[in-house]
Amino acid sequence: MQGMTTQTTDYDVIVIGAGPGGMTAALYTSRSNLKTLVLEQGAPGGELLNTAEVENYPGFPMISGPELAQKMYEGSNRFGAEHKYGAVQSVEVKDGIKIVHAGKKSYTAKVVIIATGATHRKLDIPGEEEYQGRGVSYCAVCDGAFFTGKPLTVIGGGDSAVEEGTYLTQHASQVSIVHRRDELRAQQVLVDRAVKNDHVDFIWKHIPVEIKGDENQVTHAVLKDVETGEIFEKETSGVFVYVGLIPVSEPFKGLGITDEDGWIETNELMETAVPGIFAVGDVRKKQLRQIATAVGDGSQAGQSAYNYFQELED
Ligand code: NAP
Repeated sequence: MQGMTTQTTDYDVIVIGAGPGGMTAALYTSRSNLKTLVLEQGAPGGELLNTAEVENYPGFPMISGPELAQKMYEGSNRFGAEHKYGAVQSVEVKDGIKIVHAGKKSYTAKVVIIATGATHRKLDIPGEEEYQGRGVSYCAVCDGAFFTGKPLTVIGGGDSAVEEGTYLTQHASQVSIVHRRDELRAQQVLVDRAVKNDHVDFIWKHIPVEIKGDENQVTHAVLKDVETGEIFEKETSGVFVYVGLIPVSEPFKGLGITDEDGWIETNELMETAVPGIFAVGDVRKKQLRQIATAVGDGSQAGQSAYNYFQELED
């Protein structure tokens, strides 16, 4: 590690991903005078951009996801962190230096903080891909308004399905939440709100097996009773899928820092198995995936990165 201090790199720290975890890490590293680059392949905000209302982030009784994303973005730049577009394909480590390959460009740094988050799992059933963008959606805040006055179907029983399903009643005539069990895993506060809403109903112990439509858009969700195997076709104008998350960690497979499902393993200092590579937020193997926990991870990684540089100089 000693020799690495003398080598020059493009940046001290490269943060990959500009969700709440990545933006917080960048705020902390730049505030510690570390030259920081944030690479992001979309707009800054991550999953916040797909979240209609945030009511469990301290300091804001209620704020829209995109508005909170904008505030975090402004905050993360305040101490000089640079933001660039970059779709990262891989990270190499040579003599402790990290080389981040993003399209035709490569950047070097002594520290990399991975904050790539997670993406929505798909159902992998006939019709899902065919009707994506024509009734099949993974984002209520993006697509809900296309279904004003129409019946919708939401698949899943977690926080996302129940929260976004309830949000969709602002537009839809009725929202049916289809869950494979008869017990939801969503937080009680979200369940209570959905149960009280006259425009939400639940179809228990069913799974979708096909999404059907005409030449333009979705017309039916084909549902199967998991106990009897009975099948019925439910009329619907759209199917919103919220059946969990998969980590965005493909570019880091070669580093040996992921578990068998692709989640990145860290200790409580956000250190991975590779010195100088940290991971934060939803991509990390952990219990609670929230904006607040991503921000906590980001601040810890920022401090750990600073400590890493201090040790290099010793
Ligand atoms: P999740 O908690 O993993 O829930 C996924 C749901 O989909 C489960 O109910 C699961 O059923 C069901 N499911 C999984 N595979 C299925 C399949 N093939 N067919 C039908 N149903 C299937 O995912 P999430 O709701 O997207 O939440 C992800 C994370 O974000 C969680 O940590 C959550 O707490 C967090 N989050 C928090 C908030 C908030 O705090 N306001 C909002 C959104 C998300 P089983 O229950 O039977 O497994």
